[in-house]
Amino acid sequence: MSLFARLFLAHLLVLLLAAGAMFWVAELLAPRFYQGHLQHMMDMMGPMGLSLRASLEEGLYSTLRNALLAALPVAALFAASLAFLLSRRVSNTVTLLARGAQEIAHGRYNYRLSEEGPTELAELAKQFNYLSKTLEQVEQSRVNLIGSVAHELRTPLTALQGYAEALSDGVLPKEDAAKKIAREVRAMGRLVEDLSLVSRVEAGILEVHPQPLDPLKILQESQERFALPFAEKVVQLELASADHLPPVCADPERLHQVLSNLLSNALRCTPAGGQVTLGAEPIKEGVRFFVRDTGLGIAPEHQARIFERFYRVDPARSRREGGTGVGLTVAKGLVEAMGGRMGLESVAGKGSTFYFILPFAKA
Ligand code: ADP
Repeated sequence: MSLFARLFLAHLLVLLLAAGAMFWVAELLAPRFYQGHLQHMMDMMGPMGLSLRASLEEGLYSTLRNALLAALPVAALFAASLAFLLSRRVSNTVTLLARGAQEIAHGRYNYRLSEEGPTELAELAKQFNYLSKTLEQVEQSRVNLIGSVAHELRTPLTALQGYAEALSDGVLPKEDAAKKIAREVRAMGRLVEDLSLVSRVEAGILEVHPQPLDPLKILQESQERFALPFAEKVVQLELASADHLPPVCADPERLHQVLSNLLSNALRCTPAGGQVTLGAEPIKEGVRFFVRDTGLGIAPEHQARIFERFYRVDPARSRREGGTGVGLTVAKGLVEAMGGRMGLESVAGKGSTFYFILPFAKA
């Protein structure tokens, strides 16, 4: 039997039982209440009252029964209509939900239910719509990711094909070709490595080994690692930090990787003669690390999306200069995996400050 039929019968049964109970109680109690009233009349009328009493009693009982019998079909009709409406409402919602689940199972994530009706059913529909919307977003991001990865791999692959053809045609000296091929292969390797990191961060399965670290020591090591490329481009790299900073709780490898991503971006986006400042300061939540540059800066419309995978302010320039487009996504993901948060302050044309806060190491 369908859900609608079962609900309808259940409602009907309840309403009919209620009507039956009312009939039975009226039959049982009405004569008793009437008896007292009759007795009072009999006392006033004397002997004549006896035959009148019998006839009045008879009249009352038959009137009462007839009235109740007449009311019963009307009550049953009302009960049936009400049961029909209520059952239809509930069973319709369940049917729509089942159809919605089927649509979602077939990958049609844009399916939505109407959110009208009684509070609980509307809430159910609302939650269903929230679920389908989330699935739609996840699916969209999966499709975008596949498209972006294919696009990102196509560029170095096209270059590789070009070098291979030039090599076989003899238009490119062997050594030049080898260098160029090695550069493209390195870029692809970096991209694959970064993507693997991003996916592990997003899946929450990236292993981090946090330990108490001296922020100043980490900053000095990063400064040393970047001294040469900064000197080559004639960009000044300064360290700005208090002599003593409280230790932070972080994974040294991952922290170096975050700083390295921020420093290579700052170097890439700062023209010769500019300055990049690497520093750290204690604040309430932990230690705030920052990389400040006097470079291109980032316009507000780009700032909101800068941490998204493959989002680039200037795609051609970023690719040309060896960017993978996921450097900031990786950096932010690593900081969050270490229990911190990352942000940005920037004025287009003046420069940017990328910062992240890591928690203090527990004593
Ligand atoms: P990419 O590897 O392409 O640099 P990122 O995720 O590291 O990718 O950076 C995303 C975008 O942010 C890039 O287009 C880059 O130009 C811009 N960007 C990153 N750091 C800076 C900075 N310090 N100043 C200006 N633009 C920046």
